[in-house]
Amino acid sequence: MKTALVIGAHPDDPEFGVGGTVAAWGEKGWEFHYLIVTDGSKGTPDATQDPCLLIQTRQQEQQKAAQMLGVKSVEFLGLPDGEVQADQNLLEKLVAILRKRKPYAVFTHNPEALEYRRPGSRPQIAHRDHRAVGQCVLDAVYPVARDPHYFPAHHAAGLTAHKVREVYLWGSPQANVRVDIRHTLNRKLDAIVQHQSQIAADHPRILKSRQSGRPAHEYFLRLRISP
Ligand SMILES: [Zn+2]
Repeated sequence: MKTALVIGAHPDDPEFGVGGTVAAWGEKGWEFHYLIVTDGSKGTPDATQDPCLLIQTRQQEQQKAAQMLGVKSVEFLGLPDGEVQADQNLLEKLVAILRKRKPYAVFTHNPEALEYRRPGSRPQIAHRDHRAVGQCVLDAVYPVARDPHYFPAHHAAGLTAHKVREVYLWGSPQANVRVDIRHTLNRKLDAIVQHQSQIAADHPRILKSRQSGRPAHEYFLRLRISP
């Protein structure tokens, strides 16, 4: 059995990026965990919305969505939405979690994508948090989590160095892995619509996807870390 950690910038990013794969590989015995970096507090066009309430709502939505996909745990770093910096502070937090969970694989945002494409909608500029999280996760995986002289205080806390074997980046134009999600697309969509504050269950994009059975695949750029 392999363990994977999915690291998303916002609640709902894992479902859009990798939800079909989580369901499909979960059926094969993979164990998935989630880490959500920000609090999602700016994810609304409504200026009157209370950000504290939105944070709670989005965490609950994320928990439900993860549950539907068989995810074993969800952790929230709670950084302010829209303000992620790929700095030492975030790096230390990511490395601590990698050393605690010891995943075989990590799934996250492609830091180099300037555009973010969702099936059935126009490309958008890639969110700054997505780029920053992707970058910091790559740094955390290699070489920082692997080499014990980075953040030596971790060792005293029982967080020993850990080598992740594979990284899967979603949203990459250079994808080299294609995962068939035809059998899990509906579970992915069911999980996406748990994020009621972000998307309605009868949103035309959701209905079209259910009707057409597309997308049939999720695509990733897989990077391997040599033994
Ligand atoms: Zn996002």
